[in-house]
Amino acid sequence: MKKIGVLTSGGDAPGMNAAIRAVVRKAIYHDVEVYGVKYGYQGLMEGNIEKMDLGSVGDIIQRGGTILATARSDEFKTDDGQHQAIEQMKKLGIEGLVVIGGDGSFRGAQKLSAKGFPCIGVPGTIDNDIPGTDFTIGFDTSLNTVLEAIDKVRDTATSHERTYIIETMGRDAGDLALWAGLAGGAESIIIPETTEEFSDICNRLERGRERGKKHSIIVLAEGVGNGFEYGERIKEETNLETRVTVLGYIQRGGTPTAQDRVLASRLGARAVELLLDGKANRMVGIKNNDLVDHEIDTILSEKHFINKEMYNLSKELSI
Ligand code: ADP
Repeated sequence: MKKIGVLTSGGDAPGMNAAIRAVVRKAIYHDVEVYGVKYGYQGLMEGNIEKMDLGSVGDIIQRGGTILATARSDEFKTDDGQHQAIEQMKKLGIEGLVVIGGDGSFRGAQKLSAKGFPCIGVPGTIDNDIPGTDFTIGFDTSLNTVLEAIDKVRDTATSHERTYIIETMGRDAGDLALWAGLAGGAESIIIPETTEEFSDICNRLERGRERGKKHSIIVLAEGVGNGFEYGERIKEETNLETRVTVLGYIQRGGTPTAQDRVLASRLGARAVELLLDGKANRMVGIKNNDLVDHEIDTILSEKHFINKEMYNLSKELSI
């Protein structure tokens, strides 16, 4: 293989740039030409593809977002869209593609691989919701952003003796809320993967008030419900003053942490190795700090689970 492509797709995540840098430099190290695709699969279909060199990825390892930009494309979900994408790559002599993104992006990579165009997936999403890897690129940075917010809210929560609800991102995945909640000493962590009686949450708040607790922090993953509605219900049930902070898109930006940069560098480089080894339709990941790779079909048929031990511990520590 003498020419490969790289794209970022779906939601962006801090550390994607470090992954792009690793793909480009690892490929050039092996005398392979690299082409950067702008705007994900949409740009791929439109032929928005440019040759990259060592300098194209200089000074980006520390930057959030993605220099290749990302997009969502419904047209690419069609057979015609996928054939068009393959044609664009063939025109340039590109023989393999690294796709940095989440599970939706891997479905695209799976389709291209099935049509005979080898793709390797690199997990990049702040949600940490991809099976087959302990961590996804962007999760650690986002987690630290949420934690910083919890710490700040805690200051004002203490001063005003209020209950604060912090709503994090995470449609179907509670990792961000769980890790940030445990690290931030939250009283309750409400995530999509577990169910807790609303009355139990309220009882915990009331027990805290009775023993003179000045404030309470509840971390809620957006997939479970609306923070403002939760706040209203808690106020009705307990008569505690509640305030809500919806963190929103700040969770997606920022300078990637050391963890994310190292992870992105390792995963990006391994993706290139797999392509050069003639592999296709696989996703790279990390398990117990070792690099691993799995069939994308397996990844897409499995479910990501949260760490139950951590969830139970968070409850024990917030009695
Ligand atoms: P993420 O990769 O972050 O999960 P999306 O789910 O939005 O983000 O997926 C990103 C892009 O991947 C979509 O806009 C689409 O172009 C492509 N994609 C998603 N699902 C499929 C599919 N079933 N077949 C082909 N391409 C898909």
